[in-house]
Amino acid sequence: MSATPLQIGSISAASGSKASGFLDVPGTAVRLPVVIVNGASAGPTLLVTAGIHGGEYPSIEAAIRFGAELDPAALTGRVIVMSPVSLNAFYARQAFLVPEDGKNLNRVFPGKALGTIAERMANAIITQVVPHIDAWLDLHGGDIPEALLPFLGYEAGPDPAVTERSRQMALAFGIEVLVKPDHLPGTSISAAAARGIPALLAEAGQVGILDEPNTQLLLRGCHNIARHLGILSGAVETVPVHEYAHWPWVRAAHQGCWYLQVRVGDTVEAGQVVGIVKDIFGQELARYTAPAGGLVLLVCAALSINLNDPLIGIAHD
Ligand SMILES: [Zn+2]
Repeated sequence: MSATPLQIGSISAASGSKASGFLDVPGTAVRLPVVIVNGASAGPTLLVTAGIHGGEYPSIEAAIRFGAELDPAALTGRVIVMSPVSLNAFYARQAFLVPEDGKNLNRVFPGKALGTIAERMANAIITQVVPHIDAWLDLHGGDIPEALLPFLGYEAGPDPAVTERSRQMALAFGIEVLVKPDHLPGTSISAAAARGIPALLAEAGQVGILDEPNTQLLLRGCHNIARHLGILSGAVETVPVHEYAHWPWVRAAHQGCWYLQVRVGDTVEAGQVVGIVKDIFGQELARYTAPAGGLVLLVCAALSINLNDPLIGIAHD
């Protein structure tokens, strides 16, 4: 059976074809890039997003390549790629936030039709793209001031069967570190879970650098998820996955200069000093310690630190 045509905004792809263009966000000058790859045969529809945060370059590049390389003739089903979602943040080289309203797009899903720019962007994705999809893969990484070890996450939504399908996507992706779902309102994956759509967060890359190994890691993950869903043929290339039960964050209680004492991928002990904050005259303000022993998963790699900024995240069982 051939796939049905798919139209998103003014972008339309018939069965066995590919189309790309921009989805206008109503009431704004913002346009969201969209590639539709519509397979020759009917099957599930996968949405791949990247660049919800504008400085996460390996994830943005992996999604761009995935959309550009896919051959509709080889697909059983459909793939929609949006990358970089936040073109405004991408061109502004703005980490985490949408420049027009200073909001984190990955904290405002499902958005609002008459909200701020970020809220309207989220609403456009939820109302115009998500109704067409069966699964959502949202690629991220460390943004410009952030370093991290590649990891995966998913959301425990209201339907345990959907949560398990999200977990199975995580096991198929090809990254070893999986953190247990925490409910974080406003994220893409929580909005997906609330709508009964399995969704996976995949993070790789860091500190504003486009690097080939992390790009390849994420691109291989896109292929693995498409194979896992039956959209692409071929075997999933799995890796052993460690599921961490907790990943507490340490946040800054001071503004100043941040001197990290550990590195991403280090194993630390509870109480170990992980970093020091000094004022801009070089006087020590505070030492920050690990709340638990475990694996250093994410760190703030910037010298400048503001009140309540995340400093370090540690994964442990
Ligand atoms: Zn991100």
